[in-house]
Amino acid sequence: MPRTLVAAPVETVDKARSARGWQRSLAEAIRDPAELLARLELPPDLLASMKSGADEFPLLVPRSYLRRMRIGDARDPLLLQVLPVAEELEGAAGYSRDAVGDEAALRAPGMLHKYQGRVLLIAARQCAVHCRYCFRRHYPYDEAPAALADWEPALAEIERDSSIHEVLLSGGDPLLLSNSRLARLVDRIETIPHVRRLRLHSRLPIVLPDRVEGPLIDLLKTSRLQPIMVVHANHPNEIRGDCLEALQRLVSSGIPTLNQSVLLRAVNDEADVLAELSERLINLGVIPYYLHQLDRVQGAAHFEVSDERGRELITDLRRRLTGYAIPRFVREIEGAESKTPLEA
Ligand SMILES: *Cc1c(COP(=O)(O)O)cnc(C)c1O
Ligand code: SF4
Repeated sequence: MPRTLVAAPVETVDKARSARGWQRSLAEAIRDPAELLARLELPPDLLASMKSGADEFPLLVPRSYLRRMRIGDARDPLLLQVLPVAEELEGAAGYSRDAVGDEAALRAPGMLHKYQGRVLLIAARQCAVHCRYCFRRHYPYDEAPAALADWEPALAEIERDSSIHEVLLSGGDPLLLSNSRLARLVDRIETIPHVRRLRLHSRLPIVLPDRVEGPLIDLLKTSRLQPIMVVHANHPNEIRGDCLEALQRLVSSGIPTLNQSVLLRAVNDEADVLAELSERLINLGVIPYYLHQLDRVQGAAHFEVSDERGRELITDLRRRLTGYAIPRFVREIEGAESKTPLEA
């Protein structure tokens, strides 16, 4: 196996990859559990558990993300986020397939309307990484719109409701749309006068950083709509190499950039880890926005951290960090009018 690739300096490898384009990076993402183990020099006896975990929600890890994992460490915090395990098949009380009531909030194909003033479009049917804790891991993406014409019912709904000032593109990952498809969707949203802001929720700047290229930034910067980018990093080790550079490109382009994280057992349930994550983000000009309590989606119970522990962590961060480095600790409760703050 090409050990030299794993051992090469992160920057060298990333430059070569970036020159070949992000679609290529996506196509080259690791999908084979045995290959993941070999690359990380992990014992093959993990394979059976991985294969059963991956049965319903397959393994998917871009190579850029893999390069930020520690070789030979089965407890690596980045690996744990993407490692399928047999525990995912165990049922857990209170865990369901539609953990946050997405089905009930569907107002038109692909459009969720839960909160005043903003709607969310499931703009893409896929992700570049499969995060094992994902609350949309069972989402029926094949029912979401694909062609621009399929979006018309949702767009007509937004046109009818002049209280909607912000459209969120989420998914799946909206940055997996090509620039031309994204541009056509954004152009169409721009025709609705009461929409002022376009928010993108994407994990690509973290897991597939070469997606953050000039044409994408131009597309967002030249829109009539104020763009806002919300990225998703959970651990400071993610903010390295090509990811760090992608975040710098975003911030220096002037697009307000926020981060949301999910509180995950054995990944970021220590104050030192969350503090270091916040430090790295704010040093780049990325503002910590939310620390989400885990949504109780079937297959993710092994990531749960108690609300009480979460509150302790936030209290600790408050003692240690500058005020704007503290994310809001929230839970999504079905039927609530906003994300629900969990702090005392
Ligand atoms: C989380 C979410 C939003 C955004 O909520 P903010 O608190 O504004 O970040 C919007 N729509 C839906 C359906 C959501 O789940
Ligand atoms: S990138 Fe986001 S939507 Fe996609 S699997 Fe990860 S958490 Fe879920």
